[in-house]
Amino acid sequence: TSAHRPSTAATRTTCGYCGVGCALDVVTSDGEVTAVLPARDGPVNRGHACVKGRFAHGYLTSPERLTRPLLRRDGRLEPVGWDEALGYVARGLREAVDTGGPDAVAAISSARATNEENYLVQKFLRVVIGTNNVDNCSRLCHSPSAAGLTASFGLSGGTDSLDDVERSDCLLVVGANPVEAHPVVGARLLRRVLRGAKLVVADPRAVGLALHADVHLRPRPGTNVALFHGLAHVLLTEGLVDEEFLRERATGLPELAELLLDYPPDRVADITGVPAADLVAAARLYGRAERPAIVYGLGVTEHLHGTDGVRSLANLAILRGAVGTDCGHGVNPLRGQNNVQGASDMGALPDLLPGYGKVTDPAARGRAEAVWGVPIPERPGLRIPDMFAAARAGELRALWVIGEDVCATDPDSNQVAAALDACPLVVCNELFLSETARHAGVVLPVASWLEKDGTFVNFDRRFQRVRPAVPAPGEARSDFDVVRALAGVMGVDLGCATPADALAECGHVAPVFAGLSHDRLDREAAVPWPCPDPGRPGEAKLYGERFATPDGRAHLTAAPYLPPGEQPDYDYPLLLVTGRRWAHYNSGSMTRRGGNLALDPVDFLDLHPDDATRYGVRNGAQLTVESRHGRARLVARVSEQTVPGEVFCSFHFPSSGVNRLTSDHADTVTSCPEYKVTAVRVTSR
Ligand code: SF4
Repeated sequence: TSAHRPSTAATRTTCGYCGVGCALDVVTSDGEVTAVLPARDGPVNRGHACVKGRFAHGYLTSPERLTRPLLRRDGRLEPVGWDEALGYVARGLREAVDTGGPDAVAAISSARATNEENYLVQKFLRVVIGTNNVDNCSRLCHSPSAAGLTASFGLSGGTDSLDDVERSDCLLVVGANPVEAHPVVGARLLRRVLRGAKLVVADPRAVGLALHADVHLRPRPGTNVALFHGLAHVLLTEGLVDEEFLRERATGLPELAELLLDYPPDRVADITGVPAADLVAAARLYGRAERPAIVYGLGVTEHLHGTDGVRSLANLAILRGAVGTDCGHGVNPLRGQNNVQGASDMGALPDLLPGYGKVTDPAARGRAEAVWGVPIPERPGLRIPDMFAAARAGELRALWVIGEDVCATDPDSNQVAAALDACPLVVCNELFLSETARHAGVVLPVASWLEKDGTFVNFDRRFQRVRPAVPAPGEARSDFDVVRALAGVMGVDLGCATPADALAECGHVAPVFAGLSHDRLDREAAVPWPCPDPGRPGEAKLYGERFATPDGRAHLTAAPYLPPGEQPDYDYPLLLVTGRRWAHYNSGSMTRRGGNLALDPVDFLDLHPDDATRYGVRNGAQLTVESRHGRARLVARVSEQTVPGEVFCSFHFPSSGVNRLTSDHADTVTSCPEYKVTAVRVTSR
């Protein structure tokens, strides 16, 4: 007998974890993934990848993968066929509309869905149901970036590419830990610093890049706006501004200059805890550089005044003339998740259509209506927190959650669970029986990023292809198939027979994507938007001639500093900041099922040695952490990465209950939760 020759193949796809968008070659043997190799010609990663993209694929063959639809009967989720499951959902949606109108239905889409899936989800809500009640997980992370960057510059994306940023001679990295959360970007930034670029890090924690910083600013959580105003004050008073740029291309200087009188370094030091001399040194490095760049993360956005933070940070680039010019590399958000940029680009938002046309704008609605053939409601829909509030109030009667474990990742999760339990129909598209799925009436098994076809948009606006390396297990289907099939059961043909068709149709609704297609991406690997023309490259660097605001100018903002939603007090003396760690991704549902669990096996609460002494905590002790909202169990890690009075943990281990601690305080403009500031106390027991 001849020996079995395994059938091997390699599939080029885009990583489904963080927003860097590494190109990966997935090697399979007899239909199983045997290796994931970083692509040497990957447009962003250039032969590099991190521990998540390379090794976190064990979840594919986990015995816990959902392989059949589940329907709740007599309180238990039981396996059923697709016809029965979709029929049940279709009847439930019709009943919800009959009882409460179209706005009694809502959907939460996510970065786990491809662009084409997000496009189809929002089309389903708008065309089949007749509501704008669709939102996505960017609500919880970078919605302040969308609002802030649009207000300052005109478009909802970073201003420059990573390649541009890498040409900078001074990096200002704010509220981000790219060494752990975006390791390939972290490596590229570090390489730039080791080759001579100056580095200013602004972060309360001694995150990886801070070890290499020329100046490390450690503001108290929740004081960013004051910090940015302090930097702007120094730029202005020391003449480190581009007066011609301000005259020709910006507005709002008189109002900002007046506001900044209240933010001299000494006062900012009182508010933020950052020594005045460090603030001045940082401003001089940024202000005197030839091509400074700003890179920032969720430490800027996830605050009560997150949008003010983004806009006040953008002020620095405008004052310095370092955006839309050759004199700098702009303002660049590090998007946390693989496709959180794309989910919003595709219009999975309650107020915006694909390409960011407002639902209140008749011209934008008209473009979509011409393609979809139905009228689109003018009234903006509900944001995610408002969906939960409406469910608790009995007004939302059906909620479809697609790829988000909202019970684990959204703040004040006891209240989220209460909302799901109050909603008559909860449908969940999932890989595993997540915390959210346990509250659902119907759970639909779906394909993961290694099992489906489409595109993602990474943090610097590049579209890249996603290709299936292995088939989805059992009866699991792509979200794309599920949405189309459900629409069919409800008697509506959504069109878009394939993901390629969906992207092509999206280009008719949103001219900024009209130059994109699967064929083109197969040839060119990565194309940034805006890209209105198939014969021209997309715009990697924005605003070379004019800003995309109505008057074509960059807008300075004069927002005063306002304190965060919570402050430490006698009962809750510590401030908790949550964030990411290197081996895991979000709720950890994929990364905890495989070898990465051994790299980072439990969730730690990092606390400073002084606090460990003060509260009698030993390294490795089991802790009870309490806030005004709930309680969590974490393992103590005594670390000088934090400062006294501040503690840190991740949100990768939902069983520890971290998001039972976090509050419902949220950005006043976008409703993005204030994950970065929660007052807590710890006890060893
Ligand atoms: Fe690249 Fe991010 Fe994936 Fe790591 S998680 S391989 S940095 S895209």
